[in-house]
Amino acid sequence: MRGLLITHPHPNLLPSREKGLPCNNDNMENWEMNKSIVVKIGGATFGKHDPILEDIVALQKNGIQVVVIHGGGNLVTEWLKKQGIKTSFFRGERVTDRPTLDMVAAVLGGLVNKQIVGTINSLGGRAVGISGVDGALVQSNIGNKELGYVGSVKNVDPTLLEALLKAGFIPVVSPISYYAFDRPPGAPVMLNINGDPLAGEIAAAIKAEKLIFLTDVPGVLDKNGKLIPKLNIKQTKELLDSGVAAGGMIPKLNGCLKALEVGTTACIIDGREPGVLTKAMDNNITGTTIQP
Ligand code: ADP
Ligand code: MG
Repeated sequence: MRGLLITHPHPNLLPSREKGLPCNNDNMENWEMNKSIVVKIGGATFGKHDPILEDIVALQKNGIQVVVIHGGGNLVTEWLKKQGIKTSFFRGERVTDRPTLDMVAAVLGGLVNKQIVGTINSLGGRAVGISGVDGALVQSNIGNKELGYVGSVKNVDPTLLEALLKAGFIPVVSPISYYAFDRPPGAPVMLNINGDPLAGEIAAAIKAEKLIFLTDVPGVLDKNGKLIPKLNIKQTKELLDSGVAAGGMIPKLNGCLKALEVGTTACIIDGREPGVLTKAMDNNITGTTIQP
């Protein structure tokens, strides 16, 4: 018997133009091939990701290496509610007991991750879903005991990411880390982790050109609710110290500061606006850019 014969090409490998995607090659001709960008997709846009994911597929088709990090916290809260489990937050981070950790792994590592990967593939891209546990990518211990099973990143091993990028895949990373350090016997092997610091750590580990946070506000806002187009390190720290940047914006700005250490440019932009990612690649950023 002969081996398996593939009789028709994979429809997902069709050029994007045949699938009617906004490829915008005209704008992209100045982009350098093999540059890598890390895109964090916020939970607020879950289920409405398609325009963002179309942009991501267009980037991939133009030779940009894209890593996607996702949140999905809203969905975790929804599923916890269905199980009658209460949830609480401390400075934008979910307090995580054992049942909450299990739910985080199931919902973020499963449902949300596969939804994003499947959608990218259906749009003609090539994506692989992983978590920080896979390939021991994101190694952590418990930072603040008050938060429970929440990881603090100690080391990132980007070997798996680099292999996937080299093979032409978009790695889609769910925010779960490998409990690699100071783990007592019987403790879980994974820890919940906020997607924002995770994105910062991954951007730093692969020395990404850009780290882009897509969220549900126009960018970082000042105390009057006005968009701040540019921030340097000092101004970013001041916003954090003054409390003008609060809640979910805290881990994002900290993620930006981490990525800045290796020369990455960080941006926080409105993911609800179509085409923002392709614009950001042309340095036509509509939100906030953070640079040293
Ligand atoms: P995501 O799912 O994108 O991580 P979050 O809700 O965690 O979204 O974080 C974004 C939120 O941060 C905004 O919706 C806003 O309520 C809050 N936020 C707090 N301070 C600021 C600020 N200074 N500028 C903009 N957003 C802020
Ligand atoms: Mg958040």
